[in-house]
Amino acid sequence: VYNFSAGPSMLPEEALNQAAQEMLDYNGTGMSVMEMSHRAKCYDEIIKEAQELLRELMEVPANYKILFVQGGASTQFAAAPLNLHVNGKADYILTGNFAKQAYKEGARLTQARVIASSEEDNYTYIPSVTPDMIDKDADYVHITTNNTIFGTKYVSLPDTAGVPLVADMSSNILSERMDISKFAVIYAGAQKNIGPAGLTVVIVRDDLLERFKEDCPTMLKWKTQADKDSLYNTPPTYSIYMAMLVFRWLKKLGGIAEIEKQNRYKAGLLYDYLDSSDFYRTAVKKEFRSIMNVPFVTPSKELDEAFVKEAAQNGLVTLKGHRLVGGMRASIYNAMPVEGVKKLVEFMKKFEAANK
Ligand code: PMP
Repeated sequence: VYNFSAGPSMLPEEALNQAAQEMLDYNGTGMSVMEMSHRAKCYDEIIKEAQELLRELMEVPANYKILFVQGGASTQFAAAPLNLHVNGKADYILTGNFAKQAYKEGARLTQARVIASSEEDNYTYIPSVTPDMIDKDADYVHITTNNTIFGTKYVSLPDTAGVPLVADMSSNILSERMDISKFAVIYAGAQKNIGPAGLTVVIVRDDLLERFKEDCPTMLKWKTQADKDSLYNTPPTYSIYMAMLVFRWLKKLGGIAEIEKQNRYKAGLLYDYLDSSDFYRTAVKKEFRSIMNVPFVTPSKELDEAFVKEAAQNGLVTLKGHRLVGGMRASIYNAMPVEGVKKLVEFMKKFEAANK
């Protein structure tokens, strides 16, 4: 089936096939990657390759550490204030449900302030932020680069006038080229463009690793994993291995430049049709449209329900929208083939003709 899940979501078939082949015997070791000690040489090669490939794909500068941690992006909502503690205050931009969760968790641990929000418009756009809106003494400014539920994304990054920019990139990491040097910290749960759930990636500029609060728990402290190459304790070994296979696939394909082209093409197919139809509607302001998550509705709740059901019967699954938005949501991450989006548009046309 073509699976439009918002995450965990589709993985490249090539990566899954490779994992299947190696399931019982990885590279002549006679064991599955799941059974390996994280201290074994054969595993060390896997985690190193995963880190190196991610650095290469995202063009992460040498003065940034790449950490593989656990706890999901949600744990990083707390890790940010605990690791970047100087003045004990931080600025947040609310552009969606997860941005708000990050703010609420941040507010438990630092003096958090909302400097801009699109909540009153149901997060249909990205509010603009100018440097004068930012507290120069804030420890960081937090943004969510892509809003998984509402289907918006930053088109250009806010100018934070030197205040460290922390970004939750969970739902659009590796989907388009980004200048990593503009960020102080990037974090992302793996379960969309990276691999299976269980792994969380943190990319942090190394001069920020000494800003942790004294009482920051060891496992939440970025420096703990930075000092130990993400092997302070047992990492999510199999998820890292799967991520490595996904990174290999992406590199072979032509890297982020190539996948960005494909992603824009896929999103274009869907939006072009949505724009041409007066049957379907999408609430998102055009200039902020996500190329990963595309929410849309039919004229009624009943038709939305019928759409989701009939689409599934046609092999197009997990299209039900998030409960906060309703309707449908097509998540078209890196691993969604162009063919899947073409099939979806074909189905949408048929459904429109039959129900108009
Ligand atoms: N941030 C964003 C943008 C997300 O899409 C999600 C989950 N889908 C989260 C944070 C929460 O991530 P996790 O489930 O890994 O904690």
